[in-house]
Amino acid sequence: MSNAAKPRILTGDTPTATGLHLGHYVGSLETRLRLQDEYDCYFLIANVHAFTTLAEKAGEIRANTLGIVKDWLAVGLDPERSAFVLQSEIPAIAELTFLFAMIIPFNKVMRNPTLKTEIESKGLGETYPFGFPMYAVGQCADILAFRPELVPVGEDQEAHIEMCRDVAMKFNQLYGGVGNRVPADDHARAGSAGENAVFPVPRARIGRVARLVGIDGQNKMSKSLNNAIFLYDEAKVVQKKINSIRTDRPTTTSPLPESNPLSQYIDVFLPAERASQIKADYAAGKTIMDGHVKAEVGAAINALLDPIRSRRAALEAPAAPGRAGGDALVVDVIRAGVKKANAVAEETLMLAKRAMGLDFGRRVVGWE
Ligand code: ATP
Ligand code: MG
Repeated sequence: MSNAAKPRILTGDTPTATGLHLGHYVGSLETRLRLQDEYDCYFLIANVHAFTTLAEKAGEIRANTLGIVKDWLAVGLDPERSAFVLQSEIPAIAELTFLFAMIIPFNKVMRNPTLKTEIESKGLGETYPFGFPMYAVGQCADILAFRPELVPVGEDQEAHIEMCRDVAMKFNQLYGGVGNRVPADDHARAGSAGENAVFPVPRARIGRVARLVGIDGQNKMSKSLNNAIFLYDEAKVVQKKINSIRTDRPTTTSPLPESNPLSQYIDVFLPAERASQIKADYAAGKTIMDGHVKAEVGAAINALLDPIRSRRAALEAPAAPGRAGGDALVVDVIRAGVKKANAVAEETLMLAKRAMGLDFGRRVVGWE
C-alpha cells in the first residue's frame, strides 16, 4: 500500500538530552517500530519545545536534536518509510498553535496534570517562561497538523492527548459545522481532506510499558531528571546504574516491594518465565542477594542495547570519502522528512484557515 493511502501516526521526542532512554524504548519506540509499515509515520523532534526549559542553551538543543535522530536510526526507525520532522521547520505548526490558543480555555491549560507534575519534578517553581504552559497548546498543533489516527505515547502524555482531542472536536464544532453530539470517532476520517470537519480526533496508543520508573524510584524515567539509563550508555555504566538502585530490604529474605524500580525492571527486561520465578522467590522469603538479580537484569538490558549502541557509535563517525555519515547524514534525513511533513501540514493549515474564513490564497513553503 502506498504511504498516502495509509492512516497516519504522529509522535515525537523533545531534545532535552543527547539521546533517548529505556523509558522511551519500552514506552514508545517499540510501538513505532512495529507500526512503521502499517502507518504513514511522522516522528517529530520538538526542538522549539526544548526551549521551554533550555532557552539559555540553544547549542545544546541543536546537539541534542542530532543525537536523538541518531538514536532513532540506531533503534531501527527508517527514514525511507517514516518522515523525521523538525518542529522548527514546520511553520504550519506555529500558526496552528496560535489559532488553537484562541479556543482552549486558559485555566484548562494551567490545570493540565502533566504540566503540574513537570513543574514540580523539574523544579521549575515560579520562573518558567510563558512558553512552558504554551507547549501544551503547541503539542495539540504538532499532532493535529498531521491529522493522524494514532499517537503512540507514554502514560505521562495522556492528559495532553486528551486536550488535543478536545481541541479537535471544538474546532470542528465551531468551524466545521459538526454537531455537539457527534461522537469523537465520527468527526472525520483520519487523514481525510475534511469535507466538513477538518480534524479527525486522534487516539493515544500507550506502549507495552505505560510508565517506566527511573533508577531513583521516585519519578518516571526522564531525560531531564538524572534518573535515566540511556540507550547509548556503555555496558559498564548501565550495570553501575542498575547497581545504584536502592532496594531497602532489611535482610536478604525480605520481600522486594512492587513499587521498587528493580521489581519493574525484572518484569520488563527479563523473559516472562524467569521474571515470575524471581518474583515468586522474593515473595516466598527465599534468601536472595539483590546483587545477583541486578547483574541478571543489567545483562538483559545490555543484550538489548548492544546492537543499538554499536549502530549509534557508527553514526557518530564522521563522513568519509564515498561514505555518508555523522551530522551531515542526519541533516539530510531531517531535510527529507521536513519536506514531506510540510506538504501535509500546509494542507491541514489551509483547510483550517478555510474553515475559519482566513484563506486568501495559497502559499508555498520549502527549502531554497
Ligand atoms: P523530559 O524529561 O525532557 O520531559 P522525557 O524523558 O519525558 O524528557 P519526552 O521527550 O518528554 O521524554 O517524551 C517522549 C515520549 O516518550 C513521550 O511519548 C513520553 O510519554 C514517552 N516517555 C518518556 N518517558 C517515559 C517513561 N519513563 N516511560 C514510558 N514512556 C515514556
Ligand atoms: Mg517529558
